[in-house]
Amino acid sequence: MPEGALARKHHGPLYDMRGLGFAAGEVVVVTGAGSGIGKATALAAARSGLSVAVWDLCAEAGLATQLEVEGAGAKAVAVTVDVGDDLAVARAWDSTLQLGPCRYLVNNAGPSSNSTASFDDNLTISVGSVHRVTTGWIERCSTVAAAVVSISSIAGNFQGGGQSIQPFYPASKAAIAGYTRYLATRYRGAPRANAVAPGLIITPRTIPLLDRPVIAQTAARIPMGRLGFPEEIASAVLFLLSPAAAYVNGVLLPVDGAWAHA
Ligand code: NAD
Repeated sequence: MPEGALARKHHGPLYDMRGLGFAAGEVVVVTGAGSGIGKATALAAARSGLSVAVWDLCAEAGLATQLEVEGAGAKAVAVTVDVGDDLAVARAWDSTLQLGPCRYLVNNAGPSSNSTASFDDNLTISVGSVHRVTTGWIERCSTVAAAVVSISSIAGNFQGGGQSIQPFYPASKAAIAGYTRYLATRYRGAPRANAVAPGLIITPRTIPLLDRPVIAQTAARIPMGRLGFPEEIASAVLFLLSPAAAYVNGVLLPVDGAWAHA
């Protein structure tokens, strides 16, 4: 890989996924949609004809994504919420339902793998939030809920995660995969539940790290020879959400350039 190539390109193409069977105006909630993978997913959903509830801790980032979603011709609402907080999540659901009943959910928000909060607090925020948000959705939208996709990681599932991350991270990402399998069997397809396990993806969270030698060494170990783009995760998420994936339930899909197999 040419030196500096990682730092020059941060985005891949966004595809129109209308052919996957979504009906125009169906509502999706994307948590952590103010940045990175969540933002790319919100924009891919907009291009697929969905209305998007942009949930984020950061009001400014959420509003920026809302404007981009609207710029792509879709309806959007920005909801400022900490998905680690029960009351805030309940309020966020109430605001979201102004868009209409919510058919799809993407649990993407989660703490950085370097978060120095305690192990227990990080688990509450990362995997606890997936349970909290999903339960609130099913309670309010059980008659229309069609599919949920949660963002896990190859860390904790296909590899240990190494020395540069906090121990809660692989633990919580493995828990999200297990919780996804629980949902798939508990609800028997109404809704379907799947998860995506990204490899190393270029987002505002990882961009500050790109100049470190360890990133070049990591990229060299990835069979495809590069890091991934957030849009490449978004495409996988939209497929798993969509009616085209009607018989896919309970899977953890690695999207990592085959890094997990290297
Ligand atoms: P990012 O930092 O670019 O974006 C995360 C967004 O989530 C931010 O807008 C942030 O404000 C929001 N957020 C954080 N905590 C929140 C909370 N408690 N409530 C509501 N919103 C919150 O991060 P990213 O790299 O796009 O990562 C998104 C997800 O993908 C995370 O779950 C992460 O663990 C996972 N992931 C990322 C990578 C990677 O290489 N970037 C790899 C594997 C998994």
